[in-house]
Order: sequence, then C-alpha cells, then structure tokens
Amino acid sequence: MGEEKILCIGLVCLDIINVVDNYPEEDTDSRCLSQRWQRGGNASNSCTVISLLGAPCAFMGSLAPGRVADFIVDDFMRRGVDVSALAWQSEGVTPCACCIVCTSSGSRTVVLSDTNLPDVTADDFQKVDLSQYKWIHWEVFVSKDVARNFGYNSAAEALRGLYSRVRKGASLICAWAEKGADGMGPEGIVVHSDAFPPEAIVDTLGAGDTFNASVIFALSNGKNLQEALAFGCQTAGRKCGIQGYDGIVVSG
Ligand code: ADP
Repeated sequence: MGEEKILCIGLVCLDIINVVDNYPEEDTDSRCLSQRWQRGGNASNSCTVISLLGAPCAFMGSLAPGRVADFIVDDFMRRGVDVSALAWQSEGVTPCACCIVCTSSGSRTVVLSDTNLPDVTADDFQKVDLSQYKWIHWEVFVSKDVARNFGYNSAAEALRGLYSRVRKGASLICAWAEKGADGMGPEGIVVHSDAFPPEAIVDTLGAGDTFNASVIFALSNGKNLQEALAFGCQTAGRKCGIQGYDGIVVSG
C-alpha cells in the first residue's frame, strides 16, 4: 500500500482567467494580456498545491460528465491527484468561474456560476475507504471574507470570537492577505505569522487555497501551528508572485 493521502473535499470548477493590466471599466470593450483555462475551486486548488509540495492527495467533489469535466479530470491527472472519490452526477452543470486577475493591483475578481450541480452526500462519503487517508480537509480554516461577514476586522479578533464554536481540541486558523495569518489551538493562545510578500504581486487567485494546503501539509508532517502558519504564508506569498501554481515550490 502507498503512503496515506490527504483528502480535500469541496468545489472543483473551471476557471476562465483573464489577465489584465488595468481593471476594466463597466460597459467597455478591452483586450486582456492573456487568457487561460485553469482547474479551479477551493478544494481542487488545494489539491494542486499539496501535490506540488510532494504529498499524495485525493479530491472529493461533484462533477457532471462533459467536456468541461474532461478538462478538469485531465488536469487532476497531470498533477497526480487521485480522483477515485469524484462524485459523478447525472444532473446539473459543472460550475464555471470567470475571473479577472489584475497585474497592477494583484486583485482577483471572480464571478462563479454554480447553479444546479448536486453536492456530495453522506452516502457518497460512506463509500470512501477512510484508511487511505491521513488527513481529511473540509472547512476548518476561516477566510477573511467569512470573518468580515461575522463582523470581525482582524484575524485575531475572528479567532477569539469564533473559537468557542469549534470542537474541543481543534485549531482554528484565519489568513488575512498581506497581514499574514493567525491561528489558535486548544491553549487559547493566538499565534501569528507575517506575510511574505513577493517582489511584485501578480496573481492572488488561489492564495488562500495555497495557504490552506501548505498549512495542512506542514501540520500533517508534524510541524506545530506556528511553523505551519509561517510555511503557509511563505508558499502563499510565492504564489502571489506568479501566475497559476507552477513555481510555488522552490527546490534545494
Ligand atoms: P483568500 O484567497 O482566501 O482571499 P487571503 O487573501 O487571506 O486568501 O491570502 C491567504 C494568504 O496568502 C495570506 O495569509 C498571505 O500569506 C498570502 N497573501 C495574500 N495576499 C498577499 C499579499 N498581497 N502579499 C503577501 N501575501 C499575501
């Protein structure tokens, strides 16, 4: 039997990414610098990063058969992500996101169409042989968007406010873009890592997914929360300095 894998459960979609140097005005007609199709979705992006970091990983989520799904599955295979837990749906459309990545600001603007594809169910999950996995990722991490929706203005504030909602013994982690990330374990102490900004911010699409993947990778290799946050911020910072994911891992 091979090494136990990290399983990420959640969204996979097609990202159609337009790279622009200036964010377009509404109701204008402009050209982009480049355009690409990329496999996207939070859990799917995290799988890409975990694979690039060198750990075996698997994805679980819904897809509807068709050309978009073929593109997505080919790309999972190219990255060495195990797709045996994919939940193939007979109804619905594979989600697609139109994304604008702006190189002058590093911003990413996403419009997702995710209308009618059924989600993975508890029954799908029942079929999974859990002994293959050393780590299963659903949602533990809180993003700054979610934290802001709850009315929090910093990662530390969000952790202090939300920690009582998680199971005893859990660690709660919240990334906050250029402010880095904070985490809180069972001792109730907030630990922090600063961000590691690249020379130029060119593409922040998937920065949070890269951060989550890198933190999971570090924790699953026995690192402590502080070390994992620092590793997450380093890898996510490198990601912000490149388009896509190739090049987030530095060798040697
Ligand atoms: P999301 O993609 O969920 O919006 P964030 O923007 O919070 O995620 O970013 C996640 C992590 O990526 C941050 O903790 C940080 O390490 C890194 N990061 C994101 N934006 C920047 C930035 N502008 N400069 C440096 N690091 C960044």
